[in-house]
Amino acid sequence: MPGAEPPLSPTAEDEPLSTDPANRPSHLTDRIRTELVRRGPCKVPPGFVFSRNESDGRSCHHQYFRKILVSGEKMARSWLIYSVKNNSLFCFCCKLFSKRNINLTSAGMANWKHASDYLTSHENSPEHLNCIKAWKEQSVRLKSGETIDKLEMALLEAERVRWRAVLTRLTAIVQSLALRNLALRGHTETLFTPSNGNFLKEVELMARFDPIMKDHLNRVERGTANQNSYLGHHVQNELIDLLSSKIISSIVDDIKQAKFFSVILDCTPDISHTEKLLVVIRVVSLMEKPHIREHFMGFLEAEESTGQHLESMILTRLEELGIPFEDCRGHSYDNGANMKGKNKGVQARLLEKNPRALFVPCGAHTLNLVVCDAAKGSVDAISYFGVLQKLYTLFSASTQRGPY
Ligand SMILES: [Zn+2]
Repeated sequence: MPGAEPPLSPTAEDEPLSTDPANRPSHLTDRIRTELVRRGPCKVPPGFVFSRNESDGRSCHHQYFRKILVSGEKMARSWLIYSVKNNSLFCFCCKLFSKRNINLTSAGMANWKHASDYLTSHENSPEHLNCIKAWKEQSVRLKSGETIDKLEMALLEAERVRWRAVLTRLTAIVQSLALRNLALRGHTETLFTPSNGNFLKEVELMARFDPIMKDHLNRVERGTANQNSYLGHHVQNELIDLLSSKIISSIVDDIKQAKFFSVILDCTPDISHTEKLLVVIRVVSLMEKPHIREHFMGFLEAEESTGQHLESMILTRLEELGIPFEDCRGHSYDNGANMKGKNKGVQARLLEKNPRALFVPCGAHTLNLVVCDAAKGSVDAISYFGVLQKLYTLFSASTQRGPY
């Protein structure tokens, strides 16, 4: 219990509790930290005269202790403290809660030429925002009922809401491009350049009409959101992965609800000559009204094309997805020896594990046919009648063999 702790010793702990942050050690005990939070940051008196650097004659300014909001309103930087000993600035909350070693937490920031930009960048950094949150929360706990700096908390909340809104829009753009099978990236990742790709072009278009995206791009261009613009290719890939896992999880729900399923498999080399095993799962979906659905579950990289290896890949994939193989009622693939072989083929191995999973050869599989376009490495699951339609279209377009 904090209340049960003895009072701080004025002799042994006087140094860490000094009003000058330069006297405080980098590592603080919880007790010292709590006491410093209780005391709060020391303010610089209004008429205080800052000492000048001998080298360039520059000095700290009172204006650094205030930030100007977009509305033009001035707001005190309550977290900024000054060290007379080092003639430098420290961040009160980062010095207490951050593990990062930066100027504002170690020796102090005394680069007066770039102080304004540095402070703006620091106060927008996620690490600083987390430290402010930790500081304010501890302060609330200590004061238990006393009012806290509501404006600062409101700003933090507004920042959280803003980022959520930006990410919602970026996710929607990735989803929209993925649905149309369009590439996201271009030759550059610079905004407002001609070849920056579909993703950034959609972002730019949205910013023309949407105030949140417009504000975000303004921040990125001003450099205030430079490190966290969320427009780079790593974020795009992460969003694609998250969307993919969400879609797979929804498909798995559909399969589990249907309970019984069949598997359609085929191997094809891609453009880099790597053998890829594609997996399609076919179910009678009960999500809306009962109807047959085929779900493409992705490509698996086949290091070997032996029946044993392919069987183990399929079973591992089903296990990863949490789909029990004992509910499988059919499997269908081409007539390769490794697939349909009666002794060592995938069909024999799967039948041994689950005799109820009937094997349907691809040739007899009249309702659905998996067409692999090996040159492009893409796969379409289309109906048998779809193939007929394509053949008809091909021949009907021929000048030599038009429809009669
Ligand atoms: Zn800070």
